[in-house]
Amino acid sequence: MKPIYAFEDANSKNKMLLGGKGAGLSEMTGLKLPVPPGFTITTEVCNKYYENKKRLPKNLMVEVNKHISKIEKKTGKKWNSSTNPLLVSVRSGAAISMPGMMDTILNLGLNDQTVEALTKKTNNPRFTWDSYRRFIQLFGKVVFGIKDEKFDEILDGVKNTQGVEEDSDLNVESLQKIVQNYKNICEEHTKREFPTEPNEQLNLAIEAVFKSWMGDRAIKYRRENNITKDIANGTAVNVVTMVFGNMGDSSATGVVFTRNGHNGKREIEGEYLTNAQGEDVVAGVRTGKKFEEMKKEMPKSYKEVINACAKLEKHFREPQDIEFTIEQGKFYLLQTRKLKMTATALVKTSVDMVKEKLIDKKQALRRMPAQQLEALLHRTIDESQIKNYKQLAKGVAASPGAASGIAVFDVKRAIEIGETGKKVILIRKETKPEDVPAFFSSQGILTSLGGKASHAAIVSRGQGKPCIVGCDELKIDYSNQTSTANGITVKDGDIISIDGSTGNVYIGEVPTVESQVTEDFKTILLWAQKAKRLGIRANADTPDSAKLAREFGAQGIGLCRTERMFSEKNRTELFVEMIMAESLEQRGQLLKKLQELQKSDFVEILRAMEGYKVTIRLLDPPLHEFLPNPEELMNKIYKENDNSEKTKRVLDRARELSEVNPMMGHRGVRIGITYPEIYEMQMKAVFEATADLIKKKINAKPQIMIPQVGSIEELDHIKSIYDNVKLEMEKKYKIKFKINFGTMLEVVRACLTSNELANTAEFFSFGTNDLTQGVFSFSREDVEGKFLPEYMDKEILETSPFQSIDENGVGNLMEIAISRGRKIKNNLEIGICGEHGGDPNSIKFCHNADVSYVSASPHRIPIAIVAAAQAAINKK
Ligand code: ADP
Ligand code: MG
Ligand code: MG
Repeated sequence: MKPIYAFEDANSKNKMLLGGKGAGLSEMTGLKLPVPPGFTITTEVCNKYYENKKRLPKNLMVEVNKHISKIEKKTGKKWNSSTNPLLVSVRSGAAISMPGMMDTILNLGLNDQTVEALTKKTNNPRFTWDSYRRFIQLFGKVVFGIKDEKFDEILDGVKNTQGVEEDSDLNVESLQKIVQNYKNICEEHTKREFPTEPNEQLNLAIEAVFKSWMGDRAIKYRRENNITKDIANGTAVNVVTMVFGNMGDSSATGVVFTRNGHNGKREIEGEYLTNAQGEDVVAGVRTGKKFEEMKKEMPKSYKEVINACAKLEKHFREPQDIEFTIEQGKFYLLQTRKLKMTATALVKTSVDMVKEKLIDKKQALRRMPAQQLEALLHRTIDESQIKNYKQLAKGVAASPGAASGIAVFDVKRAIEIGETGKKVILIRKETKPEDVPAFFSSQGILTSLGGKASHAAIVSRGQGKPCIVGCDELKIDYSNQTSTANGITVKDGDIISIDGSTGNVYIGEVPTVESQVTEDFKTILLWAQKAKRLGIRANADTPDSAKLAREFGAQGIGLCRTERMFSEKNRTELFVEMIMAESLEQRGQLLKKLQELQKSDFVEILRAMEGYKVTIRLLDPPLHEFLPNPEELMNKIYKENDNSEKTKRVLDRARELSEVNPMMGHRGVRIGITYPEIYEMQMKAVFEATADLIKKKINAKPQIMIPQVGSIEELDHIKSIYDNVKLEMEKKYKIKFKINFGTMLEVVRACLTSNELANTAEFFSFGTNDLTQGVFSFSREDVEGKFLPEYMDKEILETSPFQSIDENGVGNLMEIAISRGRKIKNNLEIGICGEHGGDPNSIKFCHNADVSYVSASPHRIPIAIVAAAQAAINKK
């Protein structure tokens, strides 16, 4: 492979090889746009450099020199010339733009001789010495690693002596003084003379760019933004002939966006500075002027920028972010790249560009980062107002959206205050199932412990409420009803705001912006619905979330968790009594009451999803989850001197039911087998609800799903209960019911024996959360809290398997289960529920694995629809 390509010779489609900047420069050169001549050293050379123990390939500089000669011919300038010297910039650029991550060196090629030559040629010593001091500072910083502050001290000192404030007002003597002092800094730092040979300067600069790829800033940026090697592998180096925006008042440098990156409107936005070099605008050394002002100040250049914007947008079919420089009235382009946009802007530009016939609907869908769409469905913090508020702390962003309210530390109090109509933010160390009623009365939840899989996080996401967890800098003091972080204490009753999309907690009521389900957004969803093949269902446990999911486009419910219904107010108690029942008869009576409650819930949910399938999962969690934990009870008995029989009985029962490893314990189908009366009650509730609706001519389509099944014997055992219930109900109502009976596949053994299960089951649904735990032998709560972050740091795992399906392990097992199951019933409905159902990568996997549908929480339905459409489009 060639190590170097001139802009006019490169294959500009190959971003991996040339980096985004190099590819853009070569693309623009090909379009005959005014790009200064230059060349790109490929990312392959960067990788060789690292393989080679950080040494440049031997003949690299020979090749570089050939390309420099080419530039000399094109420009008539000469390297190290005493009459017409060539200067270049040395710029990094990986396949993905990493703004500000790696520094650019400008004006390379200057030394005491060429600076004089340039002065003679331009008759503008202020310009040449200004360029020289910029070069030494950038070179010192990038190559020698000298801090900016050292240079700034000198700059400020000289500005003071001369009595000016702006860099551009420095006179020649001052600039010369600065150059001398800058050189001294470098020489003191390196204990050698400042390199004067352009060739040596270039050699060192190239090496420094390669080094910056593994610099702390760059590594951190890649990690935080999930930039893996298949996305960007090494940086390229671009060497570009210098053009000068600092050659006086007919020169300028600037940045423009072809559309508004914030709201997507079709208007050119930008900033420029006269008599300046690029770095100034980017670094904000001087405040730029609005691009519009250029219309008056430099009308010819203004037109050229506008034309270039139109040409580039039309060519790339994407809004662009463009850098330009004007040298004494002559216009140059120095960079173009895809504009970074908010989710709102992406939606608007997608719809607009289809209207403008710039792209088609498929492209419009393809360019949507599905993941970002969720932000549009929630209230968000008003970014423009944040600066007026104090930040209290930062935790883990667990459920998106923004909310304000009064801080309340007590669950009961949260319910009471919530009921008066006041807004509450519930602050707890952690939450438990018995706290769920308080979630309904709160605007948002903040916990100091726990990760993204904690109870607070999962319940909040299910309810679409903002939530921050693991905010460990917040010290919560229940006895005084306060919490303290960073020296600020918040008391019960104080107002705070939380941003569940970033994890930030603020003092006071930060204004928020309404969710943005715009017409454009609906248009995108409509296109996606038509393009996708996968079914999209919702994880919904309440009539409200069923309705919401349907509004967002869900076609059915893939997971309705019946235990959630027992967490609601007044019901927990009944359920606990049922668990505590001493005789079957007593339990039977309590179950009757619960059956009525479940039935009424099912009626409403089935009605909300009329015409679509609703998969109802029978009780899954172990019974002790509904009881207080024994330790807490002991405490209570001790502290409150509570010697009542009832408390003692609860304690005994809680101890009896407690388990060493509840995740693998007495739960799911295992409860159904040992307490058949519970499953029987739940099944009856489903049949009765259906009968009610049939009478009202409502097309209800429930199906019953059994969790945690590991063998056909378990499934058949429950099936016989189902058959009996069905018989009884058909007699009672004189109706032939069509209620499918199926199983979850979330136990490894179930997947491996799916050919057996398929004889009884009328559908399968992968519970990918439990399945992932089983396949890895990871207990999720422990793993995420303890070592998962370190696993990612050490690249043992690239992403969390709880976030995206682990294709090689879990995915492979799913494929086995699918093929074995479909051998028995070739049209078997096989879905997935579990959080992966809302993750774009997992959705792509499911599409390719021929899964029938994915099920996701209501607020992730639009993501799922768009991701499913993308999977379908990209496969063709
Ligand atoms: P970044 O990736 O941080 O944007 P760049 O390599 O684009 O860094 O360069 C930083 C600044 O220097 C930009 O404003 C750019 O326009 C300017 N610049 C880079 N090369 C040249 C050049 N050959 N002539 C004039 N200005 C340049
Ligand atoms: Mg740039
Ligand atoms: Mg499960």
